[in-house]
Amino acid sequence: MNTFENVLIIGSGVAGMEASLMLSKAGKKVYLVEKLSLIGGKTIKNEETFPNMDCSTCLVAPIQQEILQDQKIDVMTVSTVQKVSGKAGNFKVTINKKARYVNIAACLGCGMCYPVCPVEQSNEWEENLINKKAIYVPCSGSLPNVPVIDADKCLRLNGSEECNLCVEACMFGAIDFTEKNETIEIEVGGIIVATGFDMLDVSEIENLGYKKYPGVYTAMEFERLFAANGPTEGKLTLRETEKIPESIAIIHCVGRKEVGYCSSICCMYSSKHAQFLKHKLPEAKIYNLYSDICVSDKTYQKFQKNVAKHSSKFIYRDDKSELEITQNDNKLKVSYQNNKGIQDAVTVDMVILANATVPSNDIELLTDVLQIEKDKFGFIDTQSFRIGSVVTSKPGIFVAGCAEGAKDLQSSVLQAEAAVSQILSMK
Ligand SMILES: Cc1cc2nc3c(=O)[nH]c(=O)nc-3n(C[C@H](O)[C@H](O)[C@H](O)COP(=O)(O)OP(=O)(O)OC[C@H]3O[C@@H](n4cnc5c(N)ncnc54)[C@H](O)[C@@H]3O)c2cc1C
Ligand code: SF4
Ligand code: SF4
Repeated sequence: MNTFENVLIIGSGVAGMEASLMLSKAGKKVYLVEKLSLIGGKTIKNEETFPNMDCSTCLVAPIQQEILQDQKIDVMTVSTVQKVSGKAGNFKVTINKKARYVNIAACLGCGMCYPVCPVEQSNEWEENLINKKAIYVPCSGSLPNVPVIDADKCLRLNGSEECNLCVEACMFGAIDFTEKNETIEIEVGGIIVATGFDMLDVSEIENLGYKKYPGVYTAMEFERLFAANGPTEGKLTLRETEKIPESIAIIHCVGRKEVGYCSSICCMYSSKHAQFLKHKLPEAKIYNLYSDICVSDKTYQKFQKNVAKHSSKFIYRDDKSELEITQNDNKLKVSYQNNKGIQDAVTVDMVILANATVPSNDIELLTDVLQIEKDKFGFIDTQSFRIGSVVTSKPGIFVAGCAEGAKDLQSSVLQAEAAVSQILSMK
C-alpha cells in the first residue's frame, strides 16, 4: 500500500507555503512542519520586496491566512522532523512537536500576557535588536498570532512555582502549563524540503568592525530597522547614538570569498536598500560599494540602473584587496582599492553589510535524518544535470527555495511549483 495522498513539507517560507497550497488544491493532505512558532519564513522580515517595492506583508499575509484556514493542511509549528524511514510512496515520519503552553483555539492574540512577564531575553528573530519576554510572539503581525512560552527561560517551568503572572493577565484562560511535548507519527508518499537559508556570521571577519562599531549593520538587521513592525517601528536611527544617519555605505559581496560562491540576491537587495534610504532620507549621501553586479532577471537590470542613476553612487572596489572599516568620532571610514588600484575611502555614519547567504543552521541534522546529500557548499544537492533542479539524491524527496541555494522569491516559488509537479507525477 502507498500513501501518495499525503505529503510532508518541511519549512513554511514562501517555497513551503506555495507548495502546500498547490498540493492542497490538488486534493492532497499536507503536513507542514515549521520549527518556529510562526509561519512565513524570512520574507516577513522584509518591509518591501524588490523589484516593485511591494509591501511584503500585503504579499504574504493573505497566503499565511489561507494556509492556516485550509482544512487539508495540518500546520505544525514549533515542530521538527526527528526520523524518516521507508521509501518513495511510503515514508514513515516521526515529528517532535514542542509544547507551546498556549492553547491556539482559546488565544485571541490580545498581547496582555507579554508585558507582565519578568523575563528579558534577546529576540533573535528581530536580529537581537530588541528583547523579548519568556512568553512572546517573534514580531507584531506574527501568524498564527498566538504567543509561545520559552520552556528554557520561563521561571515557572524552571522550578520557580510562584510565577503565575501571564496566567493572571490572560482573560481567556489560554495559557496551559499542562501541555506536553508530543511525538507524532505520520505516513506520506513524498517530501518537499523548503527549509531556506541563514546569513553568514560576519563578526569573525575582523576588518569589518561588525559588533565592534555600533554603526555597522548586517543586511537583515537593516531589513528589521526599516520595517514598520520592527524594533524601531521603521524609524531609521542608529543604535547607541539614536542619530539619523546622513551618509550610508552599502557593501556588496561581504563574505563571498569565505563561502566561495555568489549569493545572487545581494546586489538586488542592496539596490533595494539604497532606493529605500533615498526615499526615506532624501538628503542622505548613499554609496554602494560593489565588486560585481549580479542582476539576472529582465526587470532587475532596469531597477539597479535606476537606483544607480537616482538614489546612490555606485563605486567599484577591487576585491583582491581587503576592505577595512575603522571608526573615529562616531564616523566610519570605509577604505577600499578603487578601479585604478589606488586606496580610496568614504566616510559615513552607517554601514550596511550585504553578508552572504549560507545553508540553514540545522541542515546537517536534517540531511542526516532524510539521508539526502548536500552539495560542496552545504546546500541540499540536486540532480540538476540529470533530471531536474528540485530532485534530491533520494527518490520521493524534493527540495525548493533557498534550501537548494540562495535565490529570490520568484525563483523560490518557481522551484516550489516544480517540486509539486514532481510529487503529482509520482506513481
Ligand atoms: C536581506 C535580504 C533581503 C531580501 N529581499 C528580497 C526581496 O526584496 N525580493 C526578493 O525576491 N527576495 C528577497 N530576498 C530573498 C528571499 O528572502 C528568499 O527568496 C526567500 O526567503 C526564500 O524563501 P524560502 O521559503 O526558500 O526560505 P525561508 O524564507 O528561509 O523559509 C524557510 C522556513 O523554513 C523553516 N525551517 C528551517 N529549518 C527548518 C527545520 N529543520 N524544520 C522545520 N522548519 C525549518 C524556517 O524557520 C523558515 O520559516 C532577500 C533576502 C535577504 C537575505
Ligand atoms: S495567551 Fe491570553 S493574554 Fe496572551 S495573547 Fe493569548 S489571549 Fe491574550
Ligand atoms: S510563568 Fe513564565 S512565561 Fe508566564 S510570566 Fe512567569 S516567567 Fe513569564
